Amino acid sequence: MIEKTQRGRCVGGKSGLRRPSRKEGTKRSYSSKPHSQKTSRKASRKTYSKTYSKATAGKVRIIPIGGVEEIGRNMTVVEYGDDIVVIDAGLQFPEEETPGIDFIIPNTKYLEAKKDKIRGLIISHGHLDHVGAIPYLIDKLGNPTIYATKLTKAIIMKRQEEFPHSPKIDVQEITSESKVKMGKNLRAKFFDITHTIPDAIGITIETPLGNVVYPGDFKIEVDAKGNPENIEPYISLGKEKNLLLLMESTNVEMPGFSMSEKTVRENLERIFKATKGRIIVGTFSSQIERIIEMLKIAESLGRKVFIDGYSMKTNIEIAKELKLFVPRKDTLVSIDKIDDYPPEKIMAICTGAQGEKNASMMRIANKKHKYIKIHPNDTIVLSSSVIPGNEKSIQNLKDNLARQGARIIHNKVEDIHATGHAYSEELKMMMKMIKPKFFVPIHGHYFMLKTNADLAESIGIPKENIIAPMANGIIIETDGNKIQPTKETVPANYVMVDGLGVGDVQEVVLRDRQMLSQDGIFVIITVIDAQSGKVRNSPDIISRGFIYLRESQDILKQTRYLIKKTVEEATGKMHPVNIDYVKTLLRERIAKFLFQKTKRRPMVLPVLIEV
Ligand SMILES: [Zn+2]
Repeated sequence: MIEKTQRGRCVGGKSGLRRPSRKEGTKRSYSSKPHSQKTSRKASRKTYSKTYSKATAGKVRIIPIGGVEEIGRNMTVVEYGDDIVVIDAGLQFPEEETPGIDFIIPNTKYLEAKKDKIRGLIISHGHLDHVGAIPYLIDKLGNPTIYATKLTKAIIMKRQEEFPHSPKIDVQEITSESKVKMGKNLRAKFFDITHTIPDAIGITIETPLGNVVYPGDFKIEVDAKGNPENIEPYISLGKEKNLLLLMESTNVEMPGFSMSEKTVRENLERIFKATKGRIIVGTFSSQIERIIEMLKIAESLGRKVFIDGYSMKTNIEIAKELKLFVPRKDTLVSIDKIDDYPPEKIMAICTGAQGEKNASMMRIANKKHKYIKIHPNDTIVLSSSVIPGNEKSIQNLKDNLARQGARIIHNKVEDIHATGHAYSEELKMMMKMIKPKFFVPIHGHYFMLKTNADLAESIGIPKENIIAPMANGIIIETDGNKIQPTKETVPANYVMVDGLGVGDVQEVVLRDRQMLSQDGIFVIITVIDAQSGKVRNSPDIISRGFIYLRESQDILKQTRYLIKKTVEEATGKMHPVNIDYVKTLLRERIAKFLFQKTKRRPMVLPVLIEV
């Protein structure tokens, strides 16, 4: 999903230092629920020690490895006989339950075990939820050939530069005309689709049982008369034997048709034309098509364009290199020259329309931007939607900009943002054009997949021919007559990227982080006489994020007393002293006591020093 790809921290930033490690998550499934660790550890051992079954002879196997319990980290496997094709390798941005994590990527254990069968990795388009995991996992997959269109390839190669230690990758350029043999049984071909980034492509995998069709992220634009545009490729594909359609579900809950990008362009042009002072636009850097349109409008109005934000600059550079647009020589001007031009000649296009902490727009709002200070005559255009979860930061952003006197135009007052993902009528239209025998919705939370499955049923696909994957890692098999999930599943839990580590942050680490963020930490340092078992001196206590010690002398005093009592009662009959036992006892007693006193549950860490 395009919007999602822009959330959180700048992808270019810290990642430059990162290098994939070989370590990997070892648990079966991540759960934020407490006490589940034991069972999941056990399950993990079982899952990982076994070898995976072969695809049943004569059956097509589909495995959504990522992207069906979430929006992001898309990866789908198509398997037949000895041949495997992998589609997309995306990342997901962290959630509330994964504090401190940079990205979440698909778990590729299944593919690692079968890497000699992987005939290629095909990438549908250049958004991070489709390409972002490549640097972290391409090596583990045995460095297969990557197939991508021109722009997608350029984006992959550019990103690869940030990972100097990862192996040299082989990216073959494809177009909608290409046909690629993928092993003995499979062949890939492609079709043009409409999304918010140029060069997005749909994928058809020809199998002995018929086509597996994957349009990827798409929308259907309609013209002024309400007629759908650019649907010829789907209609012609619909004449073939289409076994199965894998279809995205991002906007399945939205009724009707999505707004056309043309409408957005017209509205932006009208607003830009009517604006006298400086124009400062905030949008998603992944909206490459719209950014190009804005550049063209700026040229027609005689405005210079100042691009700001790392990902925005990178994308514009790539688009320019590939001649997706050819700006006039003097259109693009470096941001440090912005004050050299009169306000009516200025259009700045910036990252950070979601209120991302260090992005350009937020720095402007917080008066921390080196070159852009808000003037009362500035017009700020937020050409973006509000991604759920970002409401508060966007509110802050708007408040701070407004305080400085700027006029703000956002997508609630003007139609200046359109999604890149089909609404329900567009999804139905695609199903009707492709006419698949079987339907498997992907890309979304389960409820969204189920809603998409219902849509398919409503247009006449029999219920028994539809499977909405309950979870990532499900194996779906079809012999061409029937479709069903197998009993076996493959590992599909979160693999987390945190700083330099890939997959080395475990569930237990996350639980600690959550606990620390909720009630803080309480450290007790106690010196014990190894001979007598008596506590020497008064125990030291360190508290962070729990209570302010200076104002909690009473609790401190009682805690010290309880520590001494607990330790000495326990060690009284112990020779020698069993430190581990004393520690556990101390942790339990003190935690209980603190909870009674405060109704809070800090992490209690006893440190016992024997002398
Ligand atoms: Zn996309």
